[in-house]
Amino acid sequence: MIRINENYLKLQASYLFSDIAKQVEIFQTQNPEQQIIKLGIGDVTRALPPACVTAFHKAVDEMADDSTFRGYGPEQGYDFLREIIACKDFQDRGAKISADEIFISDGAKCDNGNIQEIFATDIKIAIPDPVYPVYLDTNVMAGRTGEYINGRYKGVVYLDSLKENGFIPELPLEPVDLIYLCFPNNPTGAMITKEQLKAWVDYARANKAIILYDAAYVSFIRDDSLPQSIYEIEGAKEVAIEFRSFSKTAGFTGTRCAYTVVPKNCRAYLANGHSHSLHSLWNRRHTTKFNGVSYPVQRAAEAVYSEAGQTQIKELSDYYLTNAKLIREKFSALGFYCIGGDNSPYIWVAGHGDSWEFFDLLLKKTGVVCTPGAGFGKCGEGYIRFSAFNSYENVKIAMERVSNSLTGQEA
Ligand SMILES: *Cc1c(COP(=O)(O)O)cnc(C)c1O
Repeated sequence: MIRINENYLKLQASYLFSDIAKQVEIFQTQNPEQQIIKLGIGDVTRALPPACVTAFHKAVDEMADDSTFRGYGPEQGYDFLREIIACKDFQDRGAKISADEIFISDGAKCDNGNIQEIFATDIKIAIPDPVYPVYLDTNVMAGRTGEYINGRYKGVVYLDSLKENGFIPELPLEPVDLIYLCFPNNPTGAMITKEQLKAWVDYARANKAIILYDAAYVSFIRDDSLPQSIYEIEGAKEVAIEFRSFSKTAGFTGTRCAYTVVPKNCRAYLANGHSHSLHSLWNRRHTTKFNGVSYPVQRAAEAVYSEAGQTQIKELSDYYLTNAKLIREKFSALGFYCIGGDNSPYIWVAGHGDSWEFFDLLLKKTGVVCTPGAGFGKCGEGYIRFSAFNSYENVKIAMERVSNSLTGQEA
């Protein structure tokens, strides 16, 4: 009798985005004349940078000719891409990461989800709340959690991100082995300082733990005193794995290219206490289960680091940050507590009542769609998330409507 992995039955069905779609549809049916503006989605809206498109086309042409055609490439990615990443994203910022510590992949979502395979099943995991759901769900699938009771899985150490701690979780009171951190944060938009990140690195070193650091939104950091990589923190190379993606940085959500950094002296332990290289384990996993990102996509990603590419991706994130600033300023001016939007495309707004009430009020009064914070975890209750991924014109109209109809709603 074939049996299933029953851990999958513990997973909570996420109705968040389908529930939002349902509410929007009902509203649109009842108000057919109202133009709806969506500021809820975590997907980019603007075209690929021209430098990437040119490199992409050129590589496709190479594939069209026998003399320049390429078949399977290295599973870990082509050297031309690994080398420029190591140089521009790390060495130029003082982080000593080498090209062979970079693993090119087709997404930070898959890497974030797959990495847990190389760790034991009975380790203790620490996961932020609110959170990008991938970290939690992939550990549920792997059997690292108990049942789901009152909005939380048994066996997980939740790292609360609250107004009281500035949305930077405090160190856990009980020992943990694997720690998920994401900065600039999705969904809150909060950003960690070097001092705060140093405390986590020190904790991991003292407790023989590993930090999984998701820096998918790094290109939105404008304050240069903030860390772009965890490897800018002393001692991090032994205890941290970092995830990056071209999705939000260069509009690659539909093109697919990302990378994971596993430093060679990053180590975890055997039951007998001996240490083992995580680089060799991840290399084995990656080469066994993955066959590389397509050549034209890697050439398009390489072009991100050209002079033109750098100017163009800066212009892209500047555009979204202008939207974010407008959203944040508008809600702040109306008296709502907000964070994010300065080094992040997300703005986290505290409302009155619960997340869904706020979502509902906004939709009905303004036709603007946000994401209820409760959908990202228990600590998201009472908040809504705005995303800056839309046109400036739409954001402007949305904020004018908010001003006109929410004035006096909140003191
Ligand atoms: C969008 C996003 C990613 C990127 O995922 P890709 O699979 O590379 O598109 C990773 N982490 C977080 C938190 C994100 O929001």
